[in-house]
Amino acid sequence: MQASISQHFQKFNTEERCIAHFEQIRWPKGLRCPRCNGERISKFQTEGKAGKERHLCECVDCSYQYSVTSGTISHDSHVRLTKWFLASYLVCSSKKGIFAKGFKS
Ligand SMILES: [Zn+2]
Repeated sequence: MQASISQHFQKFNTEERCIAHFEQIRWPKGLRCPRCNGERISKFQTEGKAGKERHLCECVDCSYQYSVTSGTISHDSHVRLTKWFLASYLVCSSKKGIFAKGFKS
């Protein structure tokens, strides 16, 4: 278990990697505009509230701006994605593993 947690850490140790993972889950065939379904998306970074960098996407066709994480639990929260990923991993593994068994007995 120790090994898998550190593997997970290495896999999602940057905001960029977490966002790339989110993108793959939400748009497995590539980024799409939620408004016009356009495929031409440009990505940029901006500084949001509390100095936290925000990774935004902008549709080239309709200029709609959106966040990869919008509609997810981490949207607009001050929790960094890296932490959020680790927390979700721990919750998942504890549900399947020792934690759940401990509760049943
Ligand atoms: Zn669009």
